[in-house]
Amino acid sequence: MSKQEALRSMPRVDDVIARVEAEPKAKNISYHELLSCVRETLDGIRKDILADKTDKVPDVSEIVKAVIKTAVKKCSFSLRPVINATGVVLHTNLGRAVLAEAAAENVSQVAREYNSLEYSLEEGCRGSRHSHVESLICKLTGAEAAMVVNNNAAAVMLLLAAMCKDREVVVSRGELVEIGGSFRVPEIMSMSGAHLKEVGTTNKTKPSDYAEAINENTAALLKVHTSNFKIVGFSEQVKIDEMVKIGHDHNIPVIYDVGSGLMVEGEKVGLYDEVGVKESVKAGADITCFSADKLLGGPQAGIIVGKKKYVEMMKKHQLARVVRIDKLNLAALEATIRIYLDPERTFKEIPTLSNLAITKAELKIKANKLCGLLPVRKNSFSATVKTSESQVGGGSAPGEMLPSYAVQITPKTMSAADLEKALRENEVPIICRIHKGCVLLDPRTIFENQYAEIVRAFENIFAE
Ligand SMILES: *Cc1c(COP(=O)(O)O)cnc(C)c1O
Repeated sequence: MSKQEALRSMPRVDDVIARVEAEPKAKNISYHELLSCVRETLDGIRKDILADKTDKVPDVSEIVKAVIKTAVKKCSFSLRPVINATGVVLHTNLGRAVLAEAAAENVSQVAREYNSLEYSLEEGCRGSRHSHVESLICKLTGAEAAMVVNNNAAAVMLLLAAMCKDREVVVSRGELVEIGGSFRVPEIMSMSGAHLKEVGTTNKTKPSDYAEAINENTAALLKVHTSNFKIVGFSEQVKIDEMVKIGHDHNIPVIYDVGSGLMVEGEKVGLYDEVGVKESVKAGADITCFSADKLLGGPQAGIIVGKKKYVEMMKKHQLARVVRIDKLNLAALEATIRIYLDPERTFKEIPTLSNLAITKAELKIKANKLCGLLPVRKNSFSATVKTSESQVGGGSAPGEMLPSYAVQITPKTMSAADLEKALRENEVPIICRIHKGCVLLDPRTIFENQYAEIVRAFENIFAE
């Protein structure tokens, strides 16, 4: 076909759009968007012909398919639900904790109406956004006072600025950690205006190191949970109760950033080294702070609990406004804390806890069920259930692996990397791990109502 003939045989925009509009997948896409995708696709073909990259026009049905694909991609939300098949329960890149149903429901309710965010319904006048959760958090943790901010990084920043500005904060060299991209204890410290006083060594810090560092300019002793790494072998860190003793002997407050906000007994979720919030409060830490979207299983937020005197200083600080929590996260947090106040509901309703607490036997059943549902394509891939390990993630329990079972897919007509990509590009993206040339689907983090979508994805990817 000559160039001129090819160009002349191009379908008309109106004809293509009519066929595109008839497709069910185009139902929710505006005419305007579809039209622009049709023009873009036809222009692309025209350019290829003029540049001698091709000498024939694709079949109209092919063009329609391409248009729909582009249009669906352009119109789908950038931030959207995915299926987490990695087994990493608190996957920071996948939004950390999944909210409990009651929490998600409360967000939706509060978002749709005016609400009592800063209005006292008793007094009929201005109220405080802290009032909604403070007493609940105190009841749960045993602390005297509490406040909630945007996230735990903000909590650390605020408490240092309010309690330690221009004075020294004593921290063990083994706890000067970096948590994720942009939270480094020394940097946060200098931004807050407090001065870091390092003591001990990377692997060993002793009680006497803290005691000897204290002088008239010391504002606090700070302990930071080494959330995402572990020092093994010849090592020693000072426990919080010992630090409290040293601090209080010198009339200096002790602060503990416990990181992940574990609120149940660690053994119940297979975690043996994680320090709980209640333990820190009970040990007498003046201030304890933690994330709400790690092991607590709530929304993004930073929770500060402890002595009223210090919490009041933080509430009054200028930075409190800068780092304040928004109404939607607050709605989710209140609902989450209320679930904790009823022990019967806790493990049933908080997905983070149930995903961690699920037994190996239950995982085997889940894996077998998922494996059995996958379409049989003997020439394209094989699927078997294998023992495996999953991670807690979210900067919690480093090095601790949870025994698990996974569905292991061995693709035959493509590489494991290609299959991983195809699953990721599914309409509901499926995120999985690759291990030794196989794709692993870990049922620990897959909800049963997502199995059908996974099956559909495999049917599309390995269409007969
Ligand atoms: C995760 C973590 C933080 C940061 O918390 P965000 O809620 O992500 O801001 C700070 N400190 C410790 C010890 C942590 O584990």
